[in-house]
Amino acid sequence: MKEKIIIIDFGSQYSQLIARRIREMEVYCEIVPLIDIEKIKNGEEKVKGIIFSGGPASVYEKGAPTVNPEVFNLNLPILGICYGMQLITHLNGGKVEKADSREFGKAVLEVENNDNPLFTGVKKSSNIWMSHNDHITELPTGFEIIAKTDSSIAAITNNNGIYALQFHPEVVHSECGTQILENFVFNICKCEKNWKISSFITEKTKSIKETVGDEHVLLALSGGVDSSVAAVLINNAIGHQLTCMFVDTGLLRKDEGKKVLEYYKKHFDLNIVFVDAKDRFLNKLKGVDEPEAKRKIIGNEFIEVFNEEIRKLKGQEGAKFLAQGTIYPDVIESQSIKGPSHTIKSHHNVGGLPEDLQFELLEPLKELFKDEVRKVGHELGLPDTIIKRHPFPGPGLGIRVIGEVTPDKVKILQEADDIFITELMAQGLYDKVDQAFVTLLPVKTVGVMGDQRTYEYVAAIRSVNTIDFMTATWSKLPYEFLEEVSNKIINKVNGINRIVYDISSKPPGTIEWE
Ligand code: GLN
Repeated sequence: MKEKIIIIDFGSQYSQLIARRIREMEVYCEIVPLIDIEKIKNGEEKVKGIIFSGGPASVYEKGAPTVNPEVFNLNLPILGICYGMQLITHLNGGKVEKADSREFGKAVLEVENNDNPLFTGVKKSSNIWMSHNDHITELPTGFEIIAKTDSSIAAITNNNGIYALQFHPEVVHSECGTQILENFVFNICKCEKNWKISSFITEKTKSIKETVGDEHVLLALSGGVDSSVAAVLINNAIGHQLTCMFVDTGLLRKDEGKKVLEYYKKHFDLNIVFVDAKDRFLNKLKGVDEPEAKRKIIGNEFIEVFNEEIRKLKGQEGAKFLAQGTIYPDVIESQSIKGPSHTIKSHHNVGGLPEDLQFELLEPLKELFKDEVRKVGHELGLPDTIIKRHPFPGPGLGIRVIGEVTPDKVKILQEADDIFITELMAQGLYDKVDQAFVTLLPVKTVGVMGDQRTYEYVAAIRSVNTIDFMTATWSKLPYEFLEEVSNKIINKVNGINRIVYDISSKPPGTIEWE
C-alpha cells in the first residue's frame, strides 16, 4: 500500500501548490475535503502525516470548516498552515481573533530555536510570505512559540508532532519554505522517496491488468494529452482488449483525424475505430450562429454519435469498462467540502450515457497532475507534439468560426490555423505560449491584390500565456513573426485578406472568442 501525506483542504487557493511541492519531493500526497479517521486507524490507509491547508474563513465564525478533533489522537505528525494553524489553536484551547491590521505579503521570519526538527537548515532570519486577517492571541494548551515576525506569532509546536505556521511555506516567496516542508515530510513524518513516474507506470500497468482481466475497455480518444496518455498506458497493459473511438466531427484542425489515426496505429498498434461524422455535425450547425446554441448542438451530437457507436461495439465485444483521461485537478474540482457524505460529481463525459449502457469507469490518471501526466507520456514514448500540445476546446473549430459555421468557412480557418501553428513550431515559439489559434470573423473587408479589389474575411490570431487558464495575458510575439504569419495567410489562403492580432487579456476577455 502506498504511504502518503494527506492535505486537508479548507479552501485555500494554494492547496494544490502544497501537493505539488510534496510530490516534487517524490512523496505521494492527496488533497481531501474530509479525513476518514477510521480508515487511518485500522490501517486501510497508510498515512504518514497530515497537513491542514489555509482557507478564507475565520475559525471563530459559525459554520467555519473544521476537522474531527480525533485527528489529534492519531499520533501522526500534523502541520497547520495559516487557517490550519488557527484551527489547531482554536480546537486546542487557544484563542484566535481578528487582528487590528491584516498582514499581507512579505515579512521576516525570526526562528527562535534551530534545534527544532522543523527548522533544520533554516536561516535564523529569512523572508516569508503572509496572507491573513486573523491572528493567535492565546496559545493552545501545551504549545510554545518557535518563530515570530515583528508583528505576529509565526510558528508554534507542542513538541509532540504538531506544528503550525502562520505563513505559507508552499509559495516561492517564502525563502526557506521548501526546506521547512522537506523537514516536515522527511525529518518529522519519516517519509521515503518512493513516488516515481517509472514505478507509477509499472504499478498502474499491473493494476489495470488485474482490474480488467479478460474484459474489454472502450476509450474516447480525442488526440489531446490526457486521453492519449491514458490510451497508451492501457494499451500497454491489455493490448487489443482496448478499443479507442475517435470521432471526426469535421471541426478538427487540418488533417487532425488522419494524423491521429495513422500515428497511433503505426507507433502504438492501438485498436482505433474511426467514426466519420463530419456531415452530421455540419448539417446540425446550419443556420445557427449563437455561440451557446452551437456549443449545445455540438455537445449533444457528440454524445449521440458516441452512444450509437458504443451500441454497435457493445454488440460485438461487450465492453465492460469505459476508460477516461480524468486527471487529479478534475477530481479535486468535483470534491465538495460540505461533507460528511461528500458528493463526487459525475464526470461530464459520462453524464450523457444512457442508462442501459452500464460501464465501470477506468481512470488510470486520476491521481496525477498535468505535468506528471506529461512525464508518464514521455516515458511511454509519446512524442512532444502530443505531450506538449496546447488545449483544444471540445466544440473545436465550431466556436472558432464566429457566427454560422459552414464547410467553406471551416476549410478557410483550417488552412489559416495550420499556417500559424506550423510557423510557431518552426520558430521555436509554440512551447513559449500556452494556447494559440486563429479565429475566423464573419466580417468581410476590402483589400487589394494584384491591382484587383478583394472583398474577403478577416481572421484574428490569438495567442495567450497563462498558468492555469483562469487568467491569461496575450503573448508578446515578435512583430517580425506576426508580419510573416500575416503575409503567409493572406497570400496562401483564399478567402482571407486581412489579419488582426487579439491583444485582450483574460479577464475581461476570454481565451476563445465564443
Ligand atoms: N482566513 C484566515 C485569516 O484571514 C486564514 C487565511 C489563510 O489561511 N490564508 O487569517
